Amino acid sequence: MINLNAFLDSLKLTWLRRLLKENSKWKLLVDNMFNFNKLLIFGQSYCEATIDTLSNNFWRDVLRSYSKLLQAYVPQGDFDFLSSPLLYNKNIKIGGIPINSQSWYKNGLFYVNDIINQNGVIYTLKELEEKLNIKLNFLQYIGFKASLTSYKSKIPKITGVTKLTYPIRPPIINLFFKSTKGCSDFYNILNKNNDVPTSKGKWDNTYNIENETWKEIYQSPFNLPVSSLLQWFQYRINHRILSTKSYLYKIKIIDSPLCTSCNLTVDETITHMLWSCPETKKSMLHSKNIQFNLSEELYIFNIGKRYNIGTLILILETKYYIFSSKRLGIPLSIKAFKNRIRWSFTAYEHIAKKTNRLDTFEKYLKPILQACGYMQDNLPQT
Ligand SMILES: [Zn+2]
Repeated sequence: MINLNAFLDSLKLTWLRRLLKENSKWKLLVDNMFNFNKLLIFGQSYCEATIDTLSNNFWRDVLRSYSKLLQAYVPQGDFDFLSSPLLYNKNIKIGGIPINSQSWYKNGLFYVNDIINQNGVIYTLKELEEKLNIKLNFLQYIGFKASLTSYKSKIPKITGVTKLTYPIRPPIINLFFKSTKGCSDFYNILNKNNDVPTSKGKWDNTYNIENETWKEIYQSPFNLPVSSLLQWFQYRINHRILSTKSYLYKIKIIDSPLCTSCNLTVDETITHMLWSCPETKKSMLHSKNIQFNLSEELYIFNIGKRYNIGTLILILETKYYIFSSKRLGIPLSIKAFKNRIRWSFTAYEHIAKKTNRLDTFEKYLKPILQACGYMQDNLPQT
């Protein structure tokens, strides 16, 4: 089956090929909007920054497709590594951010190849300063070298790296020259990335999340040993098909998208319902009983390698409790929530016993169950 999104993006990319190859008057128009040459030699963050400056929707879309192409292209081997952009490359950073230095640009440092010696070794700090007129302090240099080495280690099929001879035509530019017609060269690259569903595009308007993380997000519902009800719940969040008022209004089931839990006149979207609604915050997230010390994205998508299985299940249960109460129009209550946790975590304990995973239960889930009143005669404190 054809991947429609990849196909549409590929069609848009043919406009960049025309920009590169044809000599038409409309190119002048484009020149006034963005610098195409810089787009070709810089990394993906330059493209993203350029998109934000454009008011022309057509070219915004074309550059979005180009950004996806840069993201989807998987470098392989020495040539791809050495012709990787040095500037605005998300994989090569100084002080945690991609390099966007004017002096590097002015000194003609565009590709990884520009900062290595004949034997393929990254220039020393002194060499960078003397040969290339680049000034970095020692810590910046160490960070730069580490990020470059880490990037290199992720690229498959690197043999011995020796410096390339100039001129260099990076793989992405080669792609534009490969065929004169059609869009299959672009499609073949973009189609590899078809495991990220369309809802990602909409979430992109809310959150700034890296593609790698999206893969984790779309796996997240199935990574936790919870009921299929909860897995399906998280799946619906990820795919934006959870029956919030905003969603029900869109599919014409109810007359108003507004949240009825709080006094704000705002749509009850997924994030409003589960995170930003004042009622949710007051009764659940910021109540003295529960303190969720995590970011909105991690909470909404139930991800985060720092969190153990107990915390992740607790977050999922919390969201499901908020959702089901709000759907039924029942006020949120910590007491009711704790009852629910006691009930479901006791069920997890039974399953853990049956599946010989009592160790994990004892370590990560039992403390939560105990906090909710487990093995105590009296009801939990509220
Ligand atoms: Zn609200």
